[in-house]
Amino acid sequence: MSINPLNQEFQGSSISHWQSQLANAFRHPHELLQFLNLDHELNPINQDLTTVTNQFSFLVTRYYAERIQKGNPQDPLLLQILPTSNEDNDHAGFVNDPVGDNKAIKTPGLLQKYQGRALLILTGTCPIHCRYCFRREFPYQQQQLGSAHEQLVIDSLAKQPNITEIILSGGDPLILGNRRLEQLIQNLQAIPHIKRLRIHTRVPTTLPSRIDDQLKAVLSNTRLKTVLVTHINHPNEISEQQSLNAIAKLAEANVHLLNQSVLLRNINSDAKTLVELSEALFSAGISPYYLHKLDKTRGTAHFEVSDSMAQAIYQELQSLLPGYLVPKLVREIPGQPSKTLQ
Ligand SMILES: *Cc1c(COP(=O)(O)O)cnc(C)c1O
Ligand code: SF4
Repeated sequence: MSINPLNQEFQGSSISHWQSQLANAFRHPHELLQFLNLDHELNPINQDLTTVTNQFSFLVTRYYAERIQKGNPQDPLLLQILPTSNEDNDHAGFVNDPVGDNKAIKTPGLLQKYQGRALLILTGTCPIHCRYCFRREFPYQQQQLGSAHEQLVIDSLAKQPNITEIILSGGDPLILGNRRLEQLIQNLQAIPHIKRLRIHTRVPTTLPSRIDDQLKAVLSNTRLKTVLVTHINHPNEISEQQSLNAIAKLAEANVHLLNQSVLLRNINSDAKTLVELSEALFSAGISPYYLHKLDKTRGTAHFEVSDSMAQAIYQELQSLLPGYLVPKLVREIPGQPSKTLQ
């Protein structure tokens, strides 16, 4: 299993509210199905979950689970996180590292693919496990940026004057505690050529209590211009006030808010849902950034939308929204100098 045990992140610090909520997350599909009154309906097709969950375990916070419609086996939020036996099927072209992450690792925790930007893998832990995840087999144990590797990464970044932006990724980088984040940001902003900090996270809509006042203070107190990219795939994920408050708190810290989604079959694979998503994001103060075609990760073929269907959906989306609410449709092709427009 590539994901870290949770307690590894919390050693040596007292447990805060959001950390106990994370500890309290559902860790077995049957618990969730019972909570959703779906245990009778869905158990038969999920009987043999051991194979997939051994490789990439099941995890979902109660907050996210509460956004799922009870009794609806086709709920678009449920489909993102419920393991199915489809994950055991091999499909041609679906591999363990479809985007060439392993080749882009410079030192443990540091990935560089594109000019001017460097990406840090801070942890393998997430608030939920998305079944379509492109890093479901990433070797976090060896390749995450533990405190032991931090100086190596900082030294490497200091020697590369062309790097102006640092992207915090994972896993979910906001699973780190405030003190660790603060220290890391201090070390990064001490490097004069670094101008921007970018955080990619699902926390605002899966564990909104994580966006606490201390985090707001940490993000307010840096000279780095900060961008936060939420990963939200469906409008139902941002329908609730606590998430909206968390997002508003980030905006108060002068954080520039963007969103990226993955185009997922039967989850958001129609123009109407994507229009609602863009509208809901904008109401929350977030601008659409990317709509990713699925990375062809082993076990995720059942989420794929064909190229022709993606084009048709995207054309309709463009006809229904002002340009600034249309995310860029992209795919990551390994070896290219940027994400590739579709
Ligand atoms: C996707 C990605 C980025 C960010 O690309 P943008 O187009 O700037 O959003 C940066 N580094 C790596 C390694 C990536 O995979
Ligand atoms: S939050 Fe991101 S890294 Fe974590 S499981 Fe979901 S897609 Fe993967």
